[in-house]
Amino acid sequence: MRRYNARGMERTKAPPLARLAQAFLNVVFPPRCVACGEQGVFLCPACAEAMPRALPPRCPLCWQPERRGETCGRCAKARPAFDGARTLHLFQGPVREVVHALKYNHLSALARPMAAHMAAYLEAEALPVDTVVPVPLFGRRQRLRGYNQSALLAREVGRLLGLSLAEGGLRRRRDTPPQARSVDAEARRRNVAGAFVGERRRVEGRRVLLIDDVMTTGATLDACAEALRQAGVASVWALTFARED
Ligand SMILES: [Zn+2]
Ligand SMILES: [Zn+2]
Repeated sequence: MRRYNARGMERTKAPPLARLAQAFLNVVFPPRCVACGEQGVFLCPACAEAMPRALPPRCPLCWQPERRGETCGRCAKARPAFDGARTLHLFQGPVREVVHALKYNHLSALARPMAAHMAAYLEAEALPVDTVVPVPLFGRRQRLRGYNQSALLAREVGRLLGLSLAEGGLRRRRDTPPQARSVDAEARRRNVAGAFVGERRRVEGRRVLLIDDVMTTGATLDACAEALRQAGVASVWALTFARED
């Protein structure tokens, strides 16, 4: 088990000009909590506290609710390619607002508090990982949005815990239609199968932590983990900020 670098938990100081620009922006557009609108921060302590947790008992592999905390029927039938997937929160209430604001409202400043929660969870659970890899967006989608929300989270988690970051550890070969809630698990699996390819020189032999913002059925994480395995990783754990139960 890797010992996390305690100094990695320190906040890095922004360069003076960036701090000045931020101070200016805070005067013109004061931050507001994305969930309740309170002024001062993008996520206020009360809303952070109110985010529902995805607590056990759950399947140790895919983390879906399971009464006795044993391997669920789906994983027993077809074992996922990842060693295990973990999630902090249920995709409800303030969590929905936070995820949505990071993804669509260009509120990249939210990546910090979100990743801080993820890093604290990782430290508590001591998952055996050394390299962070974000779930990639398809090129065109990323160009339209300007950034990949999973990469923002991965960078922050890596920085906080002193883990190495392999941002290009996975590539998206083709775009996939957004995963609709109505479609069944098998259709989702087919939708993303083969959509990713692992970059062997970046991930071979690594104990990867795959990062995404939201997990629905786990089909995307499974396809990513499969691609990473084919690129020779030692292990793959997945961590998402939220999940839909
Ligand atoms: Zn709030
Ligand atoms: Zn399962």
